[in-house]
Amino acid sequence: MTGQLIPTSQFTRDSRVVFFTGAGVSAESGISTFRDPDGLWKKYDPMELASADGFIQNPALVLEWYAWRRKMIRNSKPNEGHISICKIQKLFRNSVVLTQNVDGYHADAGSESIYELHGNIHRHKCFLCSTPVKLKVGDEEKLNYCECGGMVRPDVVWFGESLDMATLKTAFEKVSECDIFMTIGTSTQIYPAAQLPFEAKNSGAFVIEINPEPTPFSKMAHLSLRRPAVAALSKLYEDFHANIS
Ligand SMILES: [Zn+2]
Repeated sequence: MTGQLIPTSQFTRDSRVVFFTGAGVSAESGISTFRDPDGLWKKYDPMELASADGFIQNPALVLEWYAWRRKMIRNSKPNEGHISICKIQKLFRNSVVLTQNVDGYHADAGSESIYELHGNIHRHKCFLCSTPVKLKVGDEEKLNYCECGGMVRPDVVWFGESLDMATLKTAFEKVSECDIFMTIGTSTQIYPAAQLPFEAKNSGAFVIEINPEPTPFSKMAHLSLRRPAVAALSKLYEDFHANIS
């Protein structure tokens, strides 16, 4: 990629920046998604592995699936895409990361002001009363119980569940106030989070989309980069770094 991709002269260190990230950002760390299960998990319906009904019917299976995913995440690490996001964040005084990923890689890469719309796989909570429960790494694979008697589950948003309202409200506020919005590695098909890029465009932000495939939002973006996150973000960081003062 050569030449400048964005009208950086419009922006300063005070410009407000929102990153909205999805599975495509972690794909280059080797983290697969629900829509692309691999190996021994292919035979299961995602609803069996990631829904409240699935957990009630077979908690051991669900915990095994999450233990497998956690191990995959711990055996890998944030990639240059996560790191470029962190580096771009440091160029601006006011930026946030809204992520649909549950792997915690944005924090591992050094990003700040992260809102995890779909929770975090390394955290746990009670299935009944939602109280956060701290588990040691070795205890995550077996069934644990809250003091109230409820089963302990991963603190992630499952199919059929609502996103945390306070987090979602903050996300929409940040998006409606931002000057630059980047939607990265997300198919913009899962609502209500998929509405965020449209909200950004309607609020007047400069909107950049990074995704190897076209999405329902692509035609609305000011700049649509059909590239994997690592390459595109590293180019954007160079542009911002050279031109933002
Ligand atoms: Zn409880």
